[in-house]
This record gives sequence, structure tokens and C-alpha cells, in this order.
Amino acid sequence: MLKARAVVENLKEYHPPLGRREGLRLDFNENVGGCSPRVLRVLASISTEVLNKYPEREVGELAVAGYLGVALDRLLLTNGVDEAIHLLCETYLEPGDETLIVVPTFSLYEIYALATGAKVVNVQAGNDFAFPAQKVLRAITPATKLIALATPNNPTGKVAAREDLLAIAAAAPQAAVLVDEAYWDFHGETLIDQVGAVPNLFIARTFSKAFGLAGFRVGVLIGDAAQMKMVRRVGSPYNVNGVALACLTEALTDREFITGYVSQVREGRARLEQFYGERGIPFWPSRANFVLAHFGDYRKPLVEEMRRRGILVRDRNSDPGCAGCVRITVGTRPQTDRLLRELSEAFETIGFKPQPRMSLAEAEARR
Ligand code: PMP
Repeated sequence: MLKARAVVENLKEYHPPLGRREGLRLDFNENVGGCSPRVLRVLASISTEVLNKYPEREVGELAVAGYLGVALDRLLLTNGVDEAIHLLCETYLEPGDETLIVVPTFSLYEIYALATGAKVVNVQAGNDFAFPAQKVLRAITPATKLIALATPNNPTGKVAAREDLLAIAAAAPQAAVLVDEAYWDFHGETLIDQVGAVPNLFIARTFSKAFGLAGFRVGVLIGDAAQMKMVRRVGSPYNVNGVALACLTEALTDREFITGYVSQVREGRARLEQFYGERGIPFWPSRANFVLAHFGDYRKPLVEEMRRRGILVRDRNSDPGCAGCVRITVGTRPQTDRLLRELSEAFETIGFKPQPRMSLAEAEARR
């Protein structure tokens, strides 16, 4: 009988929650305000040629290289950052190798790494989910071949300091170090300038968040030219679809759309944090387009009550160290107005009282 590889047999499937059609979707960190209207105009005028020919990624890569100020041979467009992670795992991991991740974090690092037969070493974030630079440094071994770090991190919104990331890359020259900057637009600090100078450093960016193009599935992987040559070998030359490529230049040109949206998110993030702060709700100050907060035993009733009110928020209870936590994406100004109004009313309906946060050990024991 046909059997999948043993590591695949043991792999958990990543199931994003379904049934997300109805309501305001503040559960996936998307731009639910929509993309640039200019992109929609290009989309409406797509010719049959865009559909009947195999896509030419290079044109899009030239535009993105210009936008990011990166040399063309250091850049690869990918089918979302998801594919960038997958390609790095395929390029650098052998069975038995070690991948270091800081948890809680984005789940696909673990899934793609395990699928290669590599081991995943979880480093728990520190108090208040601070980036545990020293623990990561101590966890590096000669078998470490991939270190995947999101900054800002999902679901915590925490960032890693530039010096810490560079120290990690320097301490593990045998490992690909992926700095996942999917939420860069809402933070502003980058390590892109170090690509090439640090030969094992890779940066990932996406068009799924600030640009509002998650459905196009376009991301970018940037790294040392010699390494990118290897990474390109393991992927399809047609990994990014023609429709997305046809719209990409327009998306890059509409800077006003991005700045307008990003400033609404930053303002909304501050409002949501203030809202939590005033009510004594433990939350983690975020540099991304979402905020994680602790509702203890009320998290389930809250998620359900918000759904009844037409707003989807994300239960993160099962992430390491996140018992009782809910993550809410910040959107446009009117969406934040609505969110805060509905949150206050939902608190009343469920009789919510802020609860002191348990230590990690206590929370794990109760789960
Ligand atoms: N990295 C992080 C840290 C994320 O949170 C996400 C989306 N949830 C991704 C990557 C995936 O990005 P993309 O849509 O470009 O695949």
C-alpha cells in the first residue's frame, strides 16, 4: 500500500479556521479594508494573454527589487512568505538537522521544517514574550541549519533587536537565518541592508498584509546572491501567478494607499492598547497590525460573543504561553471604531472582569 514518508504520517495538518465569510474578519491579520483601487482597475482589465501564457516572474522581480532597493540577484518572488519558508527548508534542511524557532510564533516554520525530516527546537520567549536572544544563542548547535524568526512576531507583536539578530546570524554561520518581516510596514525597522554582508541572512516580506493582497499570494525572499541561486533551484519558475504579477507594479506605485492604511493601523493599534490599558486587561504592546490580550476564562465567551456581533477575533489559547489569550487584528479607522464599541458591549454581555495572568507553568498545568 502506498504510504507517505514517516515524517509526513506524523505531521499535523495546518487548519485555518473556516467559515470566515460573514462579518468583519479581524482574526487573520489581513488588510480587511481592501487593496488599492488602482490594483482593482488593473485586475478588471486583465487580458486573456495574462491567463493563457506562463507567467514571467522577472518583470515583477525587477519592480520589487526597485521598490526595496535590493539587487535583482538577491531577490526571489514567492507564493507568499509561506513558500519562501518552504523553499528555505527544502534548500537547507536534511533529516536530523535542527531548526530553531522562538515560540509562540507562526506555525508554518515548524510544519515545513518537520516535513523535511529535520527536528524543531522550540525556544520559549521570555517574560512578556520578550525576544530570548541569549536562549537562542545557547540553543545553537553544529546541527542547527535553519533559524526562523518573525519580527514583529505573530501572535505577540514583539520585535527582536537588530544587534541580537546579527549576533545570532554570526553565531550560526552554518544555518540559514530567516528574519520574517511580514509585518514590517507596521514596524519600520529592517535588516534588509545587511543582506549580502551577512551571507547566511534571509529576509522575507509579503504583499498579504499592508498591501491587502493576501489572495494573490505574493511574497519576497531576499538573501545573498550565491544562496539565492540555490534556493531558486528547488522552486517552480512559475510559482507566482500571472494575474498577481500583472497587478504588482500598480500595487507598488500606489504609495499613498499604503501610507494611509498603515497610519490608520498604527493609530488603531494605539487606541486598542489604550482601551485594554484603561480596563486593566493584560496585553502585549505590539509593533504589528494586531494586539494579543489576556482574557483568562472569558476568552471563549468573548470570541463567541464577538462572532455573534459580526466580528471575528482569534483565539490563541493553544499557542505556547498564550493560555487565555485572544489576538485581534487592527484595521481601518471606522473598523476600529466599531471594534471598540462592540468589545465594550461584549464585555457587558459576558460579564467580563479582567483576570490576573497566570505564570506560564500554571497556565500549562490548567490547559
Ligand atoms: N509570516 C508570518 C509571521 C505571518 O504571520 C504570516 C501570515 N499569517 C506569514 C508569514 C504568511 O505570509 P504570506 O501570506 O505572505 O504567505
